[in-house]
Amino acid sequence: MPEGEVRGMEYLSVPCGSIMGIPIRLHVFLPLVALLAGISTMLAGHPWQSVILAVVVAGPLLLITVLLHELGHVWAAKRVGCSADHILLWPLGGLAFIGGSVKPKEQIFISGSGPATHVPMLGLWAAVLALLHGSVTLSTQGLWIDQDFGSLVCIAMLNTNLAMLLFNLLVPCFPLDCSRILASLLLLQGMEPSTAAKVIVACSVLALLAVLAISAWSVISHHSSSSLNLLVAIWLGAQTWRLHQARVHGQLASDPLFAAAMAGQAANTGSGQTIGSAGAAASRGNSREPLPEFPGGAHSYGKAGTSAQRSGGLGRHFSLGHCPLGRKGRSQPE
Ligand SMILES: [Zn+2]
Repeated sequence: MPEGEVRGMEYLSVPCGSIMGIPIRLHVFLPLVALLAGISTMLAGHPWQSVILAVVVAGPLLLITVLLHELGHVWAAKRVGCSADHILLWPLGGLAFIGGSVKPKEQIFISGSGPATHVPMLGLWAAVLALLHGSVTLSTQGLWIDQDFGSLVCIAMLNTNLAMLLFNLLVPCFPLDCSRILASLLLLQGMEPSTAAKVIVACSVLALLAVLAISAWSVISHHSSSSLNLLVAIWLGAQTWRLHQARVHGQLASDPLFAAAMAGQAANTGSGQTIGSAGAAASRGNSREPLPEFPGGAHSYGKAGTSAQRSGGLGRHFSLGHCPLGRKGRSQPE
């Protein structure tokens, strides 16, 4: 990720309290998601109740859902001894900034803990829906917006949680949770970090092409359309390109996903080469200073196998709050 991009994301965000000691930042463009959902629903000729439904689901409820997803990553990161710097909620999803590199098994635990939060959320929305509607369904057919507003909210949130769970966990596009789990599994199998990164880049390109094709098909067939789809694809593509560049230029250690493996590789080859300026960076821990470290391969780690790895740099756990394949906030009856 280019340094300017990261800085831009930070500069356009504002602090919004903290949860579990983790500062939460909200991007100033975040309300645009709910606004776009409301406007598109209005332009489609739906009643005003549907507009409210779209705004509520794509606004505060989606925000809470993405936040809980990120808190899942943060909780897991702390369990394995990593530090959590902050969570950024922005228009396309959420980002958990987690300090330190991790071993592949720990990475799988951290990456899987975000999507896992959708399971209890699905249970909660299903329970509320059962209370309101008498049964649980993902379909809005037969429901009237002025009589079953609560049920429609529940169904929309069930769809949203299901879409986020499946998309983040099953689409192997960098830097979604699935790609991180896949990379960790490849590293666990003994694959070279560079080869694993190459596989991830190839999978990401295929996944992006599939997402674009399905999105285009949806637009053509008038099933659904969203102005955010293209932005999501562009952002994921940019992250994949960044990983490709890091691999080509031998800077994979800049991503905590590969940092531990790279450090282990360096130790095994006996090069004694430390990655970055070890001492100074190792002591930074939770400070806000590491922001400039994200891009361009400037993450800093100490000697392989030392505790310095735990506090060296910050990793980003990106979670897609907007699912290009889902029908987020569109559960109005036809
Ligand atoms: Zn996630």
